[in-house]
Formats: sequence, C-alpha cells, structure tokens
Amino acid sequence: MCSQFSVVSGPARGRGRWESASDVLESSVDLAAELQRIYESEINVRIGWFWDCGIEVRLGDDINGFLAEEFVPSIGEVLPWLQEAIARFYPDSTYAKTLDPELRERAARRLFTPPRTGAMAICPHCGAPNASMMDELIAFVCRHCGAPVEVKPPKVQ
Ligand SMILES: [Zn+2]
Repeated sequence: MCSQFSVVSGPARGRGRWESASDVLESSVDLAAELQRIYESEINVRIGWFWDCGIEVRLGDDINGFLAEEFVPSIGEVLPWLQEAIARFYPDSTYAKTLDPELRERAARRLFTPPRTGAMAICPHCGAPNASMMDELIAFVCRHCGAPVEVKPPKVQ
C-alpha cells in the first residue's frame, strides 16, 4: 500500500476522462510528440511509478535538483502537469513559449508541491543549482564552486 495513492484515488476516481479507444490512441500519440519536444527543449523530467502508488512526475534531475513533483492517478495526467510545471519554472524555455497562454496563466497561479527529496538548492556564491540528498537540506557543498553553503529553514507561510 502506498500513502500517496489515497490522495489521488478514492470514490471520485471512477472512469477516466477518455471515452473511446480512438481518443486514447490520439492522446498517446500527443504524449510521445510532446515528451519529445520537452526533451529537445533540454528540460529534465522524471516519470516513474511503483504500482498502486500512482505515477510520480518530477521536474528536474538528480544532479541539479528537482523543482516540483506530483503523483497523478493516470498517464493521461502526466503531460498536463508537466506543461504547467514547465510554464511555471521554465517560462523562457522554447517549450513553454509554445504553450497556450491560458495554460501559462493557470500555471502561474497553480500551487506546486516541492520535492520531498532532491530539491534544487541554488548556491549563493556562484548561482549553480545543487541537488539536495537529504529530506531536509541543512547545508551542502556546491558541486560547482566548492563553497560550503548553509541553508536557512524555509519560512512557514
Ligand atoms: Zn557555488
């Protein structure tokens, strides 16, 4: 069992938003094409799952850290999340500029979940992104300039 799944599952889960096989086919073609465009935009993402936990989508990578993550209940919801996350965190990327203005506006207002592990921490000395290896980042040595950096705990909102 997976604790995250209870969030995305439940009685409201019901039937997917796709009604017919042709719709599913069309969506998967779009998914492939869009993922390719994200790849060509040099944006790093991670999509993975452990069955029954939902699908984990993350924006970022192991080296530079992650910016946001989400568990979605179906593959069909991977791309919409990725598009909004990219519009929010990489608004100047080639990919984000091709997105619908309405989507970009929605992304700017959306609340994104920060990663539980591997969050991106920016070195104040050189500005390089670093991945946190711990659940809570207290301090790190910048992988770029080698400076030790102490991380202030985030303010409670
Ligand atoms: Zn640095």
